[in-house]
Amino acid sequence: MNALDLSRLPVTKEAEVVVCGGGTAGVFAAIACAHLGKDTLLIEQFGSLGGTATNGLVTPLMSVHIPGNPQCSYLYNLLQEKLLALGAGNAGGTAFDPLMLRYALEQMCVEAGVRLLYHTFIPEVIREGDTVTAVVIANKAGLSLVKGKIFIDATGDGDISVRAGAEYNKGNPETGKNQPMSLRYIIDGIDMHALAECFAQEAERTGISKNAGVWNDGKEMYADCCRGANVTLTKLFEEAVEAGDLTVEDHIYWQAFGMPGRYGSIAFNCPEFFENIDGTDPDDLSISQVKGKEAIVRQLAFYKKYMKGFEKAYIAEIAPMVGVRESREIVTDHVLTAENILGKQKFADMISQSNYPIDIHGKQLTNRYLIEPADDGKPWYEIPFRSLIVKGLDNLLVVGRCIGAEFIAEASVRVQPTARSTGEAAGIGAALALAGNKSIREVDGADVRAIMIENGANFA
Ligand SMILES: Cc1cc2nc3c(=O)[nH]c(=O)nc-3n(C[C@H](O)[C@H](O)[C@H](O)COP(=O)(O)OP(=O)(O)OC[C@H]3O[C@@H](n4cnc5c(N)ncnc54)[C@H](O)[C@@H]3O)c2cc1C
Repeated sequence: MNALDLSRLPVTKEAEVVVCGGGTAGVFAAIACAHLGKDTLLIEQFGSLGGTATNGLVTPLMSVHIPGNPQCSYLYNLLQEKLLALGAGNAGGTAFDPLMLRYALEQMCVEAGVRLLYHTFIPEVIREGDTVTAVVIANKAGLSLVKGKIFIDATGDGDISVRAGAEYNKGNPETGKNQPMSLRYIIDGIDMHALAECFAQEAERTGISKNAGVWNDGKEMYADCCRGANVTLTKLFEEAVEAGDLTVEDHIYWQAFGMPGRYGSIAFNCPEFFENIDGTDPDDLSISQVKGKEAIVRQLAFYKKYMKGFEKAYIAEIAPMVGVRESREIVTDHVLTAENILGKQKFADMISQSNYPIDIHGKQLTNRYLIEPADDGKPWYEIPFRSLIVKGLDNLLVVGRCIGAEFIAEASVRVQPTARSTGEAAGIGAALALAGNKSIREVDGADVRAIMIENGANFA
């Protein structure tokens, strides 16, 4: 066989719907589709689900900043029940233990009848005309094909769409750079009462009591200290930078969260990187892993030297997956713009709502984007189902942080609640297309939304 003739590889699996990538959006897509009786296969490169939320250690779940925090997802309710039963979530549904989330998501897939194919990477796609007929998979069994009727690109980076020839945007059009990446980590063995004492002493020493707290008998905590902010820990960080115990970059973005069910454990939203930040470049990903671990070891030494409570602390987990905030955004039938987001645009085929701010790390929002928000008494924007349909392809949907959105819009759309609802909508949309024997373009987003609501999804 010609080495390049991938279409002649053996077909090792087939499914009605093939979900490519088992992150936040992919899992919700697969479960929603399986709930509607469709044979659904979920392919994931790692050996667990949740992607950035679990293997990237990204906790907590952001609020959508709409009163009541509607999640636009019925699967959110089921997941929340599971996390609470496992002691791995909080009542508000925002905080979770990323390590237990892996298990909860996997169990939901198993219960829904989703077929899981772990440790399998998708390097290429087979396209005939405007249809994706198969994805090429690479795993311990070698190279082969997986055939499907509808494919859902949930890779976060739009790998499947790009391989299928879709157009895409990438990075900030003003600088050409992607959003910063981070390599997150968890430290265990922390004496939370001693840490509370340390925060109180710092507050007294500096006269600033801001953004460093431990409460609920040490079961909950939050702290941040970003360069330029005047918070409780600012002086401590400045002293450590001055002494050479931290780098300036260590201080640019530092944030720490407690997690339900993990007493004495903190998840850190750092170190953050501002160079070599292309999440689709294997060299940049490799550099981030190496530089990230160096920074993490340095930061643990800093906690031990400068803060109480870390005497017996140790690194429990370093994310196997680099945290990519933004890489490629796929061009879909409707591409969300900054104007759509800030102008609080509404759509008849809406499947998700949010008012999460435009959250661009390492860059200030310029005046160009300070559009006067529309005042229709409904302070949120909406995502149409069309933003999930990959332009120019008949059977490919895209979900999660790489849906059709310009760079500025992606900076709001990228958070987990939105990834979940776009995934859920795509899974339902795919099932409706198959049930009605029609193309995904003929599926009405309003019908998708109706099923989400019927199953318990809460919209504003
Ligand atoms: C550092 C950081 C902090 C953040 N903080 C928050 C926060 O506090 N709250 C919040 O709500 N959001 C936060 N976000 C945003 C949010 O976590 C992510 O945007 C979201 O989880 C992305 O979900 P996704 O399903 O689109 O992609 P991912 O979770 O990245 O899932 C993609 C999946 O596809 C797999 N995959 C990729 N390519 C292939 C391939 N070719 N073959 C096979 N498998 C593949 C990956 O292994 C992964 O499992 C943060 C993001 C980062 C990076």
